Amino acid sequence: MIYDNHGRPITYLRLAVTDRCNLRCFYCMPEEGVKYLHKSKLLTYEEMIRTVSVLSELGISKVRITGGEPFVRHNMIDFMYQLSEINGIDELNITTNGILTGQYIRQMKEMGVRAVNLSLDTLDKKRFFEITRRDEFDKVYDTLFQLIDAGFEVKVNAVVMDGKNTEDILPLVGLTQNHNVSIRFIEEMPFNGEGNHYPKLAWNLHRILAEIKSQYPDLQKLVDSPNSTSYNYQVPDFQGNIGVIAAFSRTFCGTCNRIRLTATGDLKTCLYDEGVLNIRDLLRDGITNEDLKSTFLQAFKNRPKDGFEAERNRKSVITESMTTIGG
Ligand code: SAM
Repeated sequence: MIYDNHGRPITYLRLAVTDRCNLRCFYCMPEEGVKYLHKSKLLTYEEMIRTVSVLSELGISKVRITGGEPFVRHNMIDFMYQLSEINGIDELNITTNGILTGQYIRQMKEMGVRAVNLSLDTLDKKRFFEITRRDEFDKVYDTLFQLIDAGFEVKVNAVVMDGKNTEDILPLVGLTQNHNVSIRFIEEMPFNGEGNHYPKLAWNLHRILAEIKSQYPDLQKLVDSPNSTSYNYQVPDFQGNIGVIAAFSRTFCGTCNRIRLTATGDLKTCLYDEGVLNIRDLLRDGITNEDLKSTFLQAFKNRPKDGFEAERNRKSVITESMTTIGG
């Protein structure tokens, strides 16, 4: 197991397989989208397999596929099979918007995917369209129940946006009454492709919790797992549970065990950094696996303490879109 310079084990990779997406979510990118990169700039599947194999030798045991929308990339499911066979990768999960996901449920089960995070910010079709700028609510909602019925551990990611979907908080909590699903409310971050939407975050962890408690005053705190990014709760006798992710307040950095690789091969040792080095360029310049390992180790030994330090270290302000990072 590798520990960073702050004593945190590094065991978890979030791997963005594409920067393209079939939605245009308000909190993630401007209406006209972001400029997608030429395919040659993206890591190939072969390059990703090699990188994950090297990382697995350094103690990475969990990989989450993300994007862009992962299933937009051609042959993604075959790539997932290959990933699932890498020695040392014990857990392979995915974050998806659910539009193309339904057709791959059987294969994901077959290769041992345990958990699926589905992004769904509202249970209202009209608001879904306003937020995502695409008319895909029915498909995503249907996929949610297909995933639950197929026995995946399903977490619904809902970004809480002032003036956009705060009326959805309670209905989303209501979903946990009869369904074994985890609803995770995420503080909105400034990764929307154009910079901060607000001078001050209106809906932080505390306000989200207060809203939930206004209807469910007996909300119970659950024990959070050691590297959990969410504070977890349950309404007594409800089947599912609720999590709140203080992604903007950054209260969970002390136990952060994750690194990120963007679709273009930028290594991020913190969500808020600008990328500490580019793996694609190293691979294409002919780096050996041993040197790649040393390069990773050096990066792990220079991680910022938290997301605030990472943001302070940036040379430019945040204007990137989450579709280029992976969330
Ligand atoms: N396309 C996939 C999906 O929709 O789940 C994976 C990529 S998406 C960028 C990953 C996660 O990032 C989603 O759950 C999305 O809600 C979240 N996200 C995107 N932009 C965000 C922002 N500005 N603040 C908070 N979460 C954000």
